[in-house]
Amino acid sequence: MTCEKLQAFLPDMLLDPAHVPADARQHLRECSNCERDWKELQNTMLLLDTWEVPEPSPYFDTRLAARLREEKLAGSPGWMERVRMRLLFGSNLQLRPLMAGAFALILVVGGGSYAGFVSLNRPIPQQQQKVSATVKDLELLDSNAQTLQQLAAFDDTSVDSSAPSSLSN
Ligand SMILES: [Zn+2]
Repeated sequence: MTCEKLQAFLPDMLLDPAHVPADARQHLRECSNCERDWKELQNTMLLLDTWEVPEPSPYFDTRLAARLREEKLAGSPGWMERVRMRLLFGSNLQLRPLMAGAFALILVVGGGSYAGFVSLNRPIPQQQQKVSATVKDLELLDSNAQTLQQLAAFDDTSVDSSAPSSLSN
């Protein structure tokens, strides 16, 4: 057997020694180069056996869970909450009806796709994804109701402010 042929048998000698032909073993005993290669391969495998995957720090899971909870709490209101706050407490009062109308339109047009977009971009398990989509729908309904209330309130105030003048006439 040549050295080249024996090299092809080296993995078999490790993994499946029973199927290695006798002349390969014979070559190992006679050829110091191949014997050295064989020893090196064995040592490498022994080294790999002793290697252990490092354990994560005991606080890793706790910290990750806390971080996830924070993200969940902080992330869910998102831009919708910010726009609503701006709508409620913004200083541009003359823009309010315009913003309210635009906001209602955004909710109607973009609401469904927004919920889908969010759940697509977050690696949430299937079941939670359904729940969060439902929660999002409820939030949208709630926001819509509030927007409609604000629109109605604006109509009321505009009627009220014009009421005295119409009464005096
Ligand atoms: Zn050899």
